[in-house]
Amino acid sequence: MFQNGQCPKCERKISEVTVENITINGGDHDYKGVSYICPFCFSVLTVSMDQLSLNADLVNRLLKALGRVENTYPILVSDIYV
Ligand SMILES: [Zn+2]
Repeated sequence: MFQNGQCPKCERKISEVTVENITINGGDHDYKGVSYICPFCFSVLTVSMDQLSLNADLVNRLLKALGRVENTYPILVSDIYV
């Protein structure tokens, strides 16, 4: 497989990246994030929210909301985002 992507700093072609867990400071709330690191020069290529953490958080919020709304159907958005 040909790799065309290259690191903007060291200009080496990249076929894999190193992922590091980071905290994203959102002001009043911190979020779990990940940074993608060049395996050769360790430059940060990009940063994003931790999708696995977001999915787990969403499932937990939905389960919590569903458990709470058994007697108050329909589910309100305010039941999910607390
Ligand atoms: Zn690099």
